[in-house]
Amino acid sequence: SSWWGHVEPAPKDPILGVTEAFLADPSPDKVNVGVGAYRDDNGKPVVLECVREAERRIAGTLNMEYLPMGGSVKMIEETLKLAYGEDSEFIKDKRIAAVQALSGTGACRLFADFQKRFLPDSQIYIPIPTWANHHNIWRDARVPQRTLRYYHPESKGLDFASMMDDIRNAPNGSFFLLHACAHNPTGVDPSEEQWREISYQFKVKNHFPFFDMAYQGFASGDPERDAKAIRIFLEDGHPIGCAQSYAKNMGLYGQRIGCLSILCEDEMQAVAVKSQLQQLARPMYSNPPVHGALIVSTILGDTELKNLWLKEVKGMADRIIGMRKALRENLEKLGSPLSWEHITNQIGMFCYSGLTPEQVDRLTSEFHIYMTRNGRISMAGVTTGNIGYLANAIHEVTT
Ligand code: PMP
Repeated sequence: SSWWGHVEPAPKDPILGVTEAFLADPSPDKVNVGVGAYRDDNGKPVVLECVREAERRIAGTLNMEYLPMGGSVKMIEETLKLAYGEDSEFIKDKRIAAVQALSGTGACRLFADFQKRFLPDSQIYIPIPTWANHHNIWRDARVPQRTLRYYHPESKGLDFASMMDDIRNAPNGSFFLLHACAHNPTGVDPSEEQWREISYQFKVKNHFPFFDMAYQGFASGDPERDAKAIRIFLEDGHPIGCAQSYAKNMGLYGQRIGCLSILCEDEMQAVAVKSQLQQLARPMYSNPPVHGALIVSTILGDTELKNLWLKEVKGMADRIIGMRKALRENLEKLGSPLSWEHITNQIGMFCYSGLTPEQVDRLTSEFHIYMTRNGRISMAGVTTGNIGYLANAIHEVTT
């Protein structure tokens, strides 16, 4: 008899599987548009210059002591300013309970566990589709999930009417997961006007919005603009929750640096909530890692480095926006009878192309182009060098 004989292998992660297959392909033409990490125009991973400079400044200056349980106070201070606004009254009034988290994933998970612990009968509405890990996170936290209709396959845009119906038909006081900007995987965001209507309806229904903001700055190139949805909800007086991540916008993927915040009714409530978030973190990982927090607080705490970061994040966003434009133009020039307008209407790292699983299979088997079978193209993997080849292959399998 074996202790673990009953343990079956876990299903393969669909995204990591794509990368494995890509690496195993010997073709010189191969293209990987499956990865969710930024690449430069040569297809190489990027370390931002502001990060390099911050590392130079902190090198050799610090000890390796533990951070406080809630993480770096300075990092949190700067991070809250990005989400809530430089002069936010909520920050001044100390109404925000915030802790450093293990990037965006850790922030979502900590919130899900908090939700389960203090409102054990609650559920969460999650947009369909969403980042697949959202389902895993709230499943493992044992919070039942409900669906929020979001994407409209025909228009390859937002199914706003159905989304509003689901918001209206949910029981009063429901939790909703919302992508603050650059929705993954669809690249479809509500317009400012639509966000205002969503916020209004949340108010009527007394729903709780939890914002996952994994791409602030990465969508438009401007972190302030990408925080617009959150700011609208704040203006309307909602209590909110927010997961922030520096994986994409500072390229700190492997540093696991992020923040979970919950806007409370007053300072006393915020103190209580923060203490409970720390209590949840304590038996899981005790306290968060120090290096990424130092990089972030060094950059955001220095005007010159912060400006460099703003320039660099805009550079990444602009490259992606440029590749969207070029991909659409290439397809149109090939005489594709289909509409490719959605490529430039969508925003952020991903293009939800509308390619069918069969078409994706053909791209892979005939053209060595790798992506997930839902047709999600990571625009970060598209370069000046491969865009012609990619457009041609897409044209071939769609006509
Ligand atoms: N939320 C969304 C919507 C994402 O796309 C991602 C990254 N793929 C994350 C959260 C979390 O990423 P990380 O944990 O690396 O910050």
